[in-house]
Amino acid sequence: MRPRRTFAALALCGLVLLATACGKVSSPPVKGPEADRLPVYAVAEGFELPASPTWRTAESRGHLVVGVKDDQPYLGEKDPGTGIYSGFDIEIAKMMSASLGFAPRTIEFKTIASANRETALKNGQVDIYVGTYTINAPRKRQVGFAGPYYVAGQRLLVRADETGIHGPQDLAGKTVCSAAGSTPLQRIQENYPETRAVAYDTYSVCVDKLLTLQVDAVTTDDTILLGYAAKDPDELRVVGKAFSQEPYGIGVPRSDHALRFALDDALAANERNGNRKKAYEATLGLSGVPAPKPPPIDRYPAS
Ligand code: GLU
Repeated sequence: MRPRRTFAALALCGLVLLATACGKVSSPPVKGPEADRLPVYAVAEGFELPASPTWRTAESRGHLVVGVKDDQPYLGEKDPGTGIYSGFDIEIAKMMSASLGFAPRTIEFKTIASANRETALKNGQVDIYVGTYTINAPRKRQVGFAGPYYVAGQRLLVRADETGIHGPQDLAGKTVCSAAGSTPLQRIQENYPETRAVAYDTYSVCVDKLLTLQVDAVTTDDTILLGYAAKDPDELRVVGKAFSQEPYGIGVPRSDHALRFALDDALAANERNGNRKKAYEATLGLSGVPAPKPPPIDRYPAS
């Protein structure tokens, strides 16, 4: 056992040295979600939701299957070494699982890209989806949304040495990257037609293209962009004001109103008991996103 522990300690030192040598020590600090500050979510004993077909399937399976992102720092990020997912959205998923009577450690996370969320919910690939998922009318025709639990806003990420881009008004003739199937991509295409918009499956691909000078900016929610910038403050900067409102909801199958209302209740309960705030401060709060005012839950009627 001892040599292994020594090796782990050495590996950790290596990481610390590497971070220091790379000059990545700045404000906000480069660190991951703080696991020891995360709340522990009490599993609802004897919880039953027979009116929800999704809950009944999860019950017979024994756990919840949750669609998430795996490359969004502080929101939904998968550690390539351990396979463990962490971040604010992951915590929201754990709260929901516990409230539905399933131990959070049993959640089966599935990485689903922005463009595939509605399909994944429709074909039962996931029970619920928690991943920077904006509630809007076109999507509500395909899926249901519990929440919102957070409101983000669209902004721009540029290279640290960029001087010409301060907001979407400066994007004419520039190449801007976003994720396929996302609201920020659609907004750029519709409202800023002189911008050359390119789309990939994930924002991390866009960030790679930005760092390798293949695009001039990346656009999506401030939450996501600030996470990348916090991890690479020497190379990346978020500029301009937010130019949209992105209320984040928990995606559910469209006709499963019982599940949607149960998740609305669970969000309200986790707001009251302080879990949401505590989870936020140990995750997304670390990337420099200001503490949010909780949005009112939109418990819209079944239709
Ligand atoms: N919140 C936006 C959306 O739902 C952008 C982030 C994302 O693609 O997940 O489209």
